[in-house]
Parts: sequence; structure tokens; C-alpha cells
Amino acid sequence: MQPAIHDMLSRTQYYLELEEQYGAHNYHPLPVVLTRGEAVYVWDVENKRYYDFLSGYSAINQGHCHPKILKAFIEQAQQLTLTSRAFHSDLLGEYEKFITAWFGYDKVLPMNTGVEAVETAIKLCRKWAYEVKGIAANKATIIVCEGNFHGRTTGVISFSSDPSSTVNFGPYMPGFTIIPYNDAGALEKALEDKNVAGFLVEPIQGEAGVVVPGEGYLLQTKRLCEQAGVLFIADEIQTGLCRTGKMLACDHENVRPDILILGKALGGGMLPVSAVLADDKIMLTIKPGEHGSTYGGNPLACKTAIAALRVLKDENMAQNAVLMGELLRKGLRDLHSKHVSIIRGKGLLNAIVIQHSHKDAAWELCLQLKENGLLAKPTHGDKIRFAPPLIISEEQINECVKIIDKSLSCLEG
Ligand code: PLP
Repeated sequence: MQPAIHDMLSRTQYYLELEEQYGAHNYHPLPVVLTRGEAVYVWDVENKRYYDFLSGYSAINQGHCHPKILKAFIEQAQQLTLTSRAFHSDLLGEYEKFITAWFGYDKVLPMNTGVEAVETAIKLCRKWAYEVKGIAANKATIIVCEGNFHGRTTGVISFSSDPSSTVNFGPYMPGFTIIPYNDAGALEKALEDKNVAGFLVEPIQGEAGVVVPGEGYLLQTKRLCEQAGVLFIADEIQTGLCRTGKMLACDHENVRPDILILGKALGGGMLPVSAVLADDKIMLTIKPGEHGSTYGGNPLACKTAIAALRVLKDENMAQNAVLMGELLRKGLRDLHSKHVSIIRGKGLLNAIVIQHSHKDAAWELCLQLKENGLLAKPTHGDKIRFAPPLIISEEQINECVKIIDKSLSCLEG
């Protein structure tokens, strides 16, 4: 039974205990129970308002419940939501035409979650390797980077270098070579292996704590792949869709991936929508019946994704991410906190690294930020990502820097 509304403290506690008792313990969330979202804000069940500085791990670039995306979503939900791919819909082709023109590829393969799109890209790369490049059966390898995060399936964790993703989930899938991130020399060396089919890379490693590679890394690695006849596969699930100040993070170096992977904000924060884009010579290696998904390309997703992409451009979210990102990083630098050892990021994908004798300092800071009205989450212990929706204003950024300043005092003494 729900507690009485007036019993505010126990209201939060009630929901925390429900999850604790009935849900798997595969996450460690901050103790806040959210019930409503609008633009850059979310509200908890006690009606306290917070700035959302995680944005659903960058799935809410356009802001919570964006009215135009919501309108498209509701209208389509009342019309037709799912056909499966056993039949055509009057939205799939329209969406495919729209998104391929938007990103400049011949074809798209629609999926749902991010990791499904990564799996799709891996399958596509392997198929291309055997049927176009001519690698011997079952010999194809894909190069990936240390510190990567591409999702949670058994296939994808097989090439994770993070023990919390892998331990006791083996046996692992072969066919991957891990090289250091931000090291074009290491790629050059790894490409000497003639069985390499692809290089799968995050333009900025988000989950690793917003690790930004040196300037020129993407362009250099793309060129090396071209020379070796290897596919450059960009996982832009977290970095794409204006998050870093360009439509794609690869656009900063004018790099066009051979296979582009999108997710998260493609669904406008409404539903899982992911996509793999490539040209015909790659995409047409997959034939009917060889890959798919019941919900992939459903009409509701198609309509929502078109709206989600449109508002990014209509509302200049890339440009706002550039300006607000600079303002945020400058504001953080000007705090001169001895507990913040690194401030890094691009656009509105940012992180700080906490330096403190207490190993839980970043978590403690996030609890204090929550008290002060800002939600952020540590990653890998000492890093805190600051990635608000891209519609945040200058005034709001300034207020958030003040909240962060005030909260940092909890690390004193
Ligand atoms: N790839 C990257 C770069 C990600 O950041 C994530 C999620 O954080 C994924 C893949 C997995 O996406 P999903 O959680 O939708 O499966």
C-alpha cells in the first residue's frame, strides 16, 4: 500500500524499498525517485525540482518531454505502433529516406537499443569481410579500444576491458583485438594483421569518463583504416546527435564512418530507437532473413525519430551545446577547487575527476548535488559526468555552476 501523501519522507522510501525488494540489483542509483520531467528539469515524488545533468546517459539531448517529439509520439501511438517487419508500414520507408539523407548514407538498418545496433554493426562488418573483402571463413577480427563501452550483451562484453562488465559472464566471443585508445600507432600496428575487418571506436569514450582523444585521432585512424581496406565503425550512440556540439562527434574532424551506429537520443527520450547506417556495398551483404528485430523500425519509432532529429536542427542544439559547454567548463575551472583535478569534455558531454583521500568522494558529492537540486552520477569511481539536455540556457548553466560550487564544500574537512 502507498503511504499517505503527506508522509513525504516515507514516500521516497516506499519506492526505494519496492525496487530493492522486487528488482534485480544490477544498478546502484542515487536515492531519488523521479516522477516528472520537463525540458532540463525533473521532479521527485516529494515535488522537489532538479537539473538533470545526466540526460538519461545522453538519451534526452532534446530535453524531457519535448513538446514536438511528444506530439509526434502521441499521434502515432493513436494510429499504428507495430507491424513487425513481416509487413510494410507507411512510415518505415519515409523514415529510412529521411535518416539516410540526414546523415548521407545509402541505407539504414533500424534496431531498438544501442547494443543491438552495435551487434548489428559487428555482424555487418563480418559479413562484408567474408563476402566482399574475402577474409577466410571465421577468421575476421575487429579492433576495439581499451576502456570501451558498447553495451551489455555477451557478444559486446567479450571485448570489454572493464572487469565489472565481464567477470563470471564468460566464455567470451573470439574475434576481437583490444588496443589502447587514442593511439593511432597501436592501430597501425594492429592493422598489419590481414584478417582485420573493422575498427570499432567511440569518438569520445563516454562511459569511461568522457575521455576525449587528441585532435586528429579520428582522422588519422580513419585514414589508416582506408589504407588497410578496413571498415571504420563509429559508435556515436552517446556522442552523436549534437551532444558534443556537432551532429556527430566525427564531424569535428570531417570523418565519415563506413558504418555509423546511433541510438539513445534518436528516440527523443521516448522509446528505444537505434540505427546502423552504411552504403550499399556494405549493407546489402545482409539478405532477407539473416538479421532483424521484432520492434526494429516500428512506426512509432520511425515517427518519433524523425521528430527527434528535426528538433535538433530546428532549435540549433549543436550550437547551443558548443556555447553552453564552454560556459560550463569555464565556470568549473573558475571555481579552482582543489578536489577537481580534471575538467574535460566537448560540447555538453563533460566530466570532472574528483581528487580526494576518501574513495567515495565522488558519490558523496553527487549526494550533495542532489540535496542542492542537481542530479549527476559518478562513473568508474572518481569521475562525474556533466551532460545536461542541450536546450539548457546560459542562466541555467550559471545557476548549476553555483550549485556545484556550493556542493563541493561537502568535500572539505
Ligand atoms: N555504446 C555506447 C557508446 C554507449 O554509451 C551505450 C550506452 O551507454 C551503448 C553503446 C549501449 O546502449 P544501450 O544501453 O541502449 O544498449
